[in-house]
Amino acid sequence: MAREQDDILHRGIGMTSQRTRERLIQRLYEEGISNAKVLEVIRRTPRHLFVDEALAHRAYEDTALPIGHNQTISQPYMVARMSELLLEAGPLDKVMEIGTGSGYQTAVLSQLVERVFSVERIKVLQDRAKERLVELNLRNVVFRWGDGWEGWPALAPYNGIIVTAVATDVPQALLDQLAPGGRLVIPVGSGEVQQLMLIIREEQGFSRRVLGAVRFVPLLNGPLA
Ligand code: SAH
Repeated sequence: MAREQDDILHRGIGMTSQRTRERLIQRLYEEGISNAKVLEVIRRTPRHLFVDEALAHRAYEDTALPIGHNQTISQPYMVARMSELLLEAGPLDKVMEIGTGSGYQTAVLSQLVERVFSVERIKVLQDRAKERLVELNLRNVVFRWGDGWEGWPALAPYNGIIVTAVATDVPQALLDQLAPGGRLVIPVGSGEVQQLMLIIREEQGFSRRVLGAVRFVPLLNGPLA
């Protein structure tokens, strides 16, 4: 490994030892994450590089953490669970993500599917996320600065869509951009009342599964410079 790459991967590693990471993986497993590939990818993805250095020592706790602009990096359990739900029926080629944020879920997904198309409304978060993915040499991701309510129609359809902010209703544009058999994992609701949903495009219409209560920041409107 090149010296520089080595430095990047181990920045702040004193407080984020391999043992701490193993403990997180063990915990996710005990909480019911059973997809071995998902667990392996989370084990090897350096979450401490996706938060401020001041928070790096908490990066392997199973908790959401602030990333500025009133946003949070998703809780590892949620990243694992949503990834697992997307992949439940087999490998996926094209996956769209709404809410790039720190880029952590993006980085995990990019190691599990062929190509990721990630949409974020806050330009500065997107720029920072882009840099992190380049640093980690994860190159199968393209980014769009825009409004996730609209998806990314020009590149549709997608085999999977994942939304990492809670929507008041399921955005029609996202349903429209699902390929046949495509899967949409999305938190729906508002405030304290939010449910994680899995929506699948069937031959006729859509099937819906409600997977339990969750807690996300809201899916807002419009891009923000
Ligand atoms: N998966 C991210 C979670 C970030 S929090 C991570 O692990 O870091 C949710 C993100 O959704 C925020 O970055 C927020 O800016 C973004 N977001 C909210 N509404 C949006 C919208 N309409 N379109 C695109 N992104 C949106």
